[in-house]
Amino acid sequence: MTAIDRTRLHDLLDRERAEYARLHPRSATAFGAAEHLFGRVPMTWMLKLAGAFPLYLQSARGSTVTDLDGVTYADFALGDTGAMAGHSPTPVVDAVARRFGELGGASAMMPTEDGEWVGAELTRRFGATRWSFALSATDANRWAIRLVRALTGRNKILFHSYCYHGSVDESLIVVGPDGRGTAREGNVGAPVDVTQTSRVAEFNDLAALERELADGDVAAVLMEPALTNIGIVLPEDGYLAGVRELTRRTDTLLIIDETHTFSAGPGGCTQAWSLEPDVVVIGKAIGGGIPAAAYGLSAELAARALGRTDLDLVDMGGVGGTLAGNALSLAATRATLEHVLTDEAFVGMIELSTTYAEGVRALFDKHDLPWTVTQLGARAEYRFVPAPARTGTEAHDATDLELDDYLHVYLANRGVLLTPFHDMALMSPVTTGEQVTLHLDVLAAAVAELVGA
Ligand code: PMP
Repeated sequence: MTAIDRTRLHDLLDRERAEYARLHPRSATAFGAAEHLFGRVPMTWMLKLAGAFPLYLQSARGSTVTDLDGVTYADFALGDTGAMAGHSPTPVVDAVARRFGELGGASAMMPTEDGEWVGAELTRRFGATRWSFALSATDANRWAIRLVRALTGRNKILFHSYCYHGSVDESLIVVGPDGRGTAREGNVGAPVDVTQTSRVAEFNDLAALERELADGDVAAVLMEPALTNIGIVLPEDGYLAGVRELTRRTDTLLIIDETHTFSAGPGGCTQAWSLEPDVVVIGKAIGGGIPAAAYGLSAELAARALGRTDLDLVDMGGVGGTLAGNALSLAATRATLEHVLTDEAFVGMIELSTTYAEGVRALFDKHDLPWTVTQLGARAEYRFVPAPARTGTEAHDATDLELDDYLHVYLANRGVLLTPFHDMALMSPVTTGEQVTLHLDVLAAAVAELVGA
C-alpha cells in the first residue's frame, strides 16, 4: 500500500494555497473588505475553507459556476444539494418569474393550488400522505420533532452518532468514549444538557438501538437512511429493516430525513429501498434553488394531530413560520419536481455518478492507495481509509483535513469544485461526462504529485 508523505503533502498544500491566492485577487479583496459581517461572511459556515478566503460568486447556470475573478468551474458541490437540480434551471426560473413577477404575491399568506400538486407528487415519491412546508430542512425537522413529541407523549428523540439534521438542538449528541450519549463537540449554546432531550446510537448497531429504545421514552428515531454528513455511511444488510422492526415493537415513530439521500432516486432511499417511515422530511433540492422544505405525515398521524384540540397548530403553538409554504417556494418546488428532478433525470444522474465513482476507484487502485469511494445514487465521495466506515464515529475518526484541503484547493485551482465538507460530489441533470472526465484528470494529477509518481 502507498503511504502518504506528510511533508510532501504539506509543501504541496502551501504551493496550491499560494496559487489559489494568485488566481483570485477580487475574491481576496472582497473578503478583506467585509468589515460588517460576522466572520466577514454572510453565514459563518462559509469560513469552512481550504484556501485563505472564500470564492465569491459571480454567476451560476446548470452545473457550472463563475467566480468574481471570472474563473469558471465544473460545480460538483451544487450548493451541498441545494442546487442538485442544477443552478437556475429554466422551468424554475420561468415559474419564479411568473409567480413573483407576473402574478406577484410571495408573501400573501394565502394558499395556492401548487401546494396540493406538490403534496400529491411528494406522496407518489415518498409515500407519506399529508404534507406541510418549511423553508429549510432544519425547520421541517424541528416541527416534525414537536409533532411526534405531542403525539406520543414521550420527550426524547433518538439520533445516530455524528448525524446532521440542521441546527436542531436535540440532534447534537454523539456516543462518547464511555459508550454513553454526550454533547457534540463545539455545540454552541445548548439550552439544556442534550441527554435530557435525546438518545443516541451508532449507525448499523441494532443492539445499541434496542437498548436505547427499551425505556419507552423515545418519541421517534430521526435518521438519514444512509449517513451523508460525516461522509457517506451506508446501511448494512438488514439494518434498516431492523430499525423499523424495533421502532414498531416499542411504539416509537420513525422519521426519515431524505434531504441529502434524495440523491438515491426520485423518491430518495424511501422509495429505492421500500422503507416505511411514519414521517418523511426533505429540504434543499426540492425548491430548485429557492428555499423550500417539507415534512410528510402518514394520514393516521395527521388525523391524530388535527384531532387534538389541546395542540395549537394555528397560532403560536410552536409549529409555524410566516413565510413557510409561500407561493414562490411552492411554485419553484412544483417546477423542480415536474420538469427538472424527474424520474427520468435521476437515471442519467446516477449513471454519471457511477462513471465518476468507477473512475476514481480505478485511479486509487492504480496507485495502490488504501482509499475508498462510496456512492449513493447521484452522490459519490472518496475517503482516505481502506474500508468504508460502518458508523458515524468511525467516519468521524477517519477525517484527514489536510488531505481534504489539498485536494479541494488543487481541484479549485484547475476548475473543479467539490462540496466544502468532505470530498463529496453530486451530479445534476445537466452535469456532463466532460465535467466528470475533467474532475478525474485533475484528481489524477493531484494524486500523482502527492505520491511522487
Ligand atoms: N437534514 C439533512 C440530512 C441535511 O444534510 C441538512 C443540511 N446539510 C439539513 C437537514 C439542514 O438543512 P438546512 O441547512 O437547509 O436547514
